[in-house]
This record gives sequence, C-alpha cells and structure tokens, in this order.
Amino acid sequence: MDNLSRRSLVGAAVLGASLANRKAPASPPAWAPGPGSAEAGKCRITGVEVTHLSKPLKERFWMSLTPIGGYQPTASRTIVRIRTSAGITGEGEGGGGAAALFRSGFAELLIGEDPFMVEHLWQKMFRTTVSRLKAERGWSTANILAAMAPVDAALWDFIGKSARLPVYKLFGAYKDRVPCYVTGGYYREGKGLRDLVTECEGYVKQGFRAIKLKVGGAPVEEDVERVRAVRQAVGPNIDLMLDVNQAWDLHTAIRASHQMAPLAITWLEEPLRWYDDVSFLARLKKDCPIPLASGEHEETRYGARRLMETGAIDFLQFDCHARTGMSEWRRLAGMASALDIWMAPHHEPVVHGHLLASIPNGYILESFANPDRDPFWFELYSRRPEIKDSVLVLGDEPGLGVELDAAALKKYGTKVL
Ligand SMILES: [Mg+2]
Repeated sequence: MDNLSRRSLVGAAVLGASLANRKAPASPPAWAPGPGSAEAGKCRITGVEVTHLSKPLKERFWMSLTPIGGYQPTASRTIVRIRTSAGITGEGEGGGGAAALFRSGFAELLIGEDPFMVEHLWQKMFRTTVSRLKAERGWSTANILAAMAPVDAALWDFIGKSARLPVYKLFGAYKDRVPCYVTGGYYREGKGLRDLVTECEGYVKQGFRAIKLKVGGAPVEEDVERVRAVRQAVGPNIDLMLDVNQAWDLHTAIRASHQMAPLAITWLEEPLRWYDDVSFLARLKKDCPIPLASGEHEETRYGARRLMETGAIDFLQFDCHARTGMSEWRRLAGMASALDIWMAPHHEPVVHGHLLASIPNGYILESFANPDRDPFWFELYSRRPEIKDSVLVLGDEPGLGVELDAAALKKYGTKVL
C-alpha cells in the first residue's frame, strides 16, 4: 500500500469514528426557517365554527359487551367549519366527544394560520398533548386527538375546494370506486336466528357483497350457529367478516376461530380483551386459521405501529374520523404498505372513502344500511357519495364532496363556537 492510500484509509477511519459518535439532531438546523408561513398577505384562517350534533338512537344495538352509542344510545358528531381570507370554507366532521375543547382555546391555535399548511397545523395541535397548556385548559389527550380529526378533515376539504379537486384526487388517486361492506348482525332483545338470517338476506338484496357480523356476545357454540346460518343463507359468494369487539380471552379466541374458519371468514376483528390485546394477538396469530383485523382503538401512528410490528394483523382499521384526522391515516397507510397490511378503516365513509381511493393497499370501506343504527349517514347530508351494489362511487365534486343538510344541522345541532 502506498503512502497516499494509507493516509486516505486513516482519514476515512477518523471521519467514520466522528460520524459514529454523532447523535441525531433533535431539530432542524438552527438556521432553517421554522414551520408555518412567514409571508404576510397569504391565505389565512379567519374563523372557526363548531357544531355538535346529537340524536338518541331508537334502541340498543348490542355488540359483544356494549351497545352502539352507549347504554343510553346516542349518535353524535362534531362539525368544524374553517373560514379563510380566500372566501372558501372547509368543512370537516369527527366523532362527537371533543366539541367542548374548541370553547377553551383549541380553535385559537388555528386563527391567523395559513390553511394550506396542514402538516404545520397538525403538529401544532398534536404538540399540545405534551404541553402545559393541556393542563392549564383542562384538556385530555383523548379529547385533543378527537378534536384534531374534524379540523384536519376541514383543512383537506378547504384545499380540495381551492384546487377544485376531490380530496382523493388531491392525494393522487389510485381509483375512484371503493368496495364497501355493511355492518350488522347486532344482538338485540328478542332477536332470533331467523331474524338474523332475514336481516342478512336483506343486505344481499340491497346489493351488498360483504357483511360483517357481531360475535362474542353469546357462547362460542351459539355464535358458530349464528354465523353458519348466515353463511348457508347468503351462499358462498358473499364475504363475511366477524367482529368480536374485544370479548374473548386468548384460549376462547383460538377455539372459536377454529370452529368458525370452515365458514370462509375474511377476517376476525378485535378478538381479544382490552387489557392485553396486542401481545396476545401475536400469540393468537400462531394458532388462528382466520386473518386478523384490529386498530380501530389505536390513537396515533405510534400505537398502530406497535400493533403492526407484532406481525399479527392482516388488516389495519385505524379510524381517522374518531381521532387525529386524514393526515395521520395517510402516514399509517404508507407504513402498512411496507408491511403488506391492508387498510380497512373503522366507520365513516365520508372521509375514509377518499383515503381508500387514494392508496393501493386499501381493502374495503365500512358502511351502514340501517337508519336506526347510523342515522347521520342517512340524514346529515343533502349531497354525498352513493353506495350502490357494495361500491362507493366518488365523483369530481371538490373537497370531500358532501353538503351538510341545513335542516338536519338545525334539528340535531348545538352551536359550540
Ligand atoms: Mg369493530
């Protein structure tokens, strides 16, 4: 080796050692411009309006252990309107839990900001979960995450309207039609096997090609009979999913899945109890002949990442209508694609339809066919994408493509801000 080569080798080793000792920086370079827009005269958020919607349900639709909408069942929504200096208003919706936050300063985080800078606004809202402001204002982490959902959806609606593009095309669409399943098979007072079969035959007559049934609220053998009766009635060409809603222990889940697998089940959803539903899921996966779905209760991409890292799930059901918004869902869809996991979100076609249409690893959309179970899907919109023959068809209306019905807003709505 000549002197020059030796010197360059020694130099590389020294450089390598110094790089190896270097810690990743905690923030961008000190000289880098900060987040947000510094330019005066750019589009600004000028106002935030919030409406809370509430409608009591006519009866209790029981999942395994709890009724939909609580024991005094109520359907609820939070609608956020973001007004801008451009004269274009973004409208987004989320679950009903966190509307009050907007009265105690949450909306002020948005005022004066550039509504196109969604990532900046998302981070600004998210950072309050690790701030003293949270304690000062009496906010909970869960409520902050819930309040972020309608804000984030409203921002994307605004950007879509500004660009005159539907949100799924704004995201770079993959397709414009999304397959849907209907959720039913709830336990109800006095509901027998015949009623269950009639209900599911009704879904097939309506054109649905996939049905999700509730299980876990009866002894396993009884549930197997329920699922078998439905399978025999609808035939082999209808997809069936089963949702346990966290009712089983590990051993019951193993036993039940072996009994139900011969009935051609697309997925088994949230089979395990809340207190250890992630690590036990990995154990279940080793002895479960049905693909597994979970994630509707995950609050952020961090929790969803832990769930995916178990290798247990085949379908991720992250619900960005309930919390954190469409931006977080898109990040998760990317992570899921790298792990060969399908996205199959929980609830609310209005936002999840656009998201599923924008990615290649979107599997199916949840929907509802019973106005008593899900009244807002039927009453809240004077215009929305239609579901026909088990397919949601997205159009070219800008933004989220929905128009809220003024009469429904008046009837069920309370102005929060
Ligand atoms: Mg579920």
